[in-house]
Amino acid sequence: MSMAEAWEITEDEGIVTQAYPRREVKRKLKAIIEVEGLSKHYPPDLKAVDGVSLSIKPGQVFSILGPNGAGKTTAVEILEGLREPTSGKATIFGIDISHDYGKIRKRVGILPQNFEPFENLTPVEALEYWAHLFNMTKTSKDIDALLESVGLGSKKKAMGGKMSGGEKRKLGIAMALINDPELLFLDEPTTGLDPKARRDLWALIQGIKKKGTTVVLTTHYLDEAEKLSDDVAIMNKGKVVARGTPDELIGRYGKETLIVLVGVGQSAVDELARRSIVSHRENGNVVVPVSNPKELRTMFAKLSSIQVEFKDMYTRRQTLEDVFLNLVGQKMDEGVLRG
Ligand code: ATP
Repeated sequence: MSMAEAWEITEDEGIVTQAYPRREVKRKLKAIIEVEGLSKHYPPDLKAVDGVSLSIKPGQVFSILGPNGAGKTTAVEILEGLREPTSGKATIFGIDISHDYGKIRKRVGILPQNFEPFENLTPVEALEYWAHLFNMTKTSKDIDALLESVGLGSKKKAMGGKMSGGEKRKLGIAMALINDPELLFLDEPTTGLDPKARRDLWALIQGIKKKGTTVVLTTHYLDEAEKLSDDVAIMNKGKVVARGTPDELIGRYGKETLIVLVGVGQSAVDELARRSIVSHRENGNVVVPVSNPKELRTMFAKLSSIQVEFKDMYTRRQTLEDVFLNLVGQKMDEGVLRG
């Protein structure tokens, strides 16, 4: 049975899973998180979260994508039971978060933003301490297995303060997994990490999903959301401005195909403009958007005949980065809006 099929609810007792097989099962639950009109206002007039409605399916990686200050952390911290909403409603596992968060908390794991481990504890000691705080009994075999599963098998005895950024985040994820949660919140897990450490964490997150855990990920990395997510909500200024799978979003908001002219600059953009061809610069190349795929051949022919000395020419489909630019009108770079 998949995790999605395992979520079930009784009329009087809330959710049951396979862990509670004797409870009477009445109907299946379609969403692990339901959010309706959720808002958080800060005085005098900041709407950090402004009427957000979402439904998150079990077994998926759901990404909340947006620039700094979009309201991602505020929204997620409300769902983590750490902040009170100003208005709106949210349920997790079918349980209203404002009524009985205690029942939810033991089934949820959290990696907070900017997580830093205890400087003077090794990963083994940190996990033993964490298990103790949660009133859980973990054998050293359990702890070794958990550290192995996040890729910290060889760092069991390293000091928290001496670990690399990626290792620290992996330890944070191991701590979040201590109670074998059914739902895991990861708040910007890869911010500030180098590309290799980011990729390692992506593989770890994909592995966690494969085991059936639902992951809610906040990020301002568009490539990360595109690579990992089954479903994405793009947030800006407290609101969800777009919602769908990465493919749906690209299909809906990124309709153009792009012809990339490699190794040319502004003079090429000017030369093309003289011939009424719209283009823009992007990472040392020049990009020509073509909205109708049927016009690609003609455009290729035109570009080949123009005196522009490019090193190579290829097409690429639009990415979530383009979708974001089309929707918000600005690019996002490390969470900062530019342009
Ligand atoms: P980042 O990517 O930088 O973490 P975010 O999308 O997670 O950004 P939030 O941290 O949720 O954004 O912040 C949303 C807005 O709410 C910001 O303008 C922030 O300054 C504001 N804010 C957050 N917490 C408080 C608070 N306790 N009091 C007042 N304003 C707050």
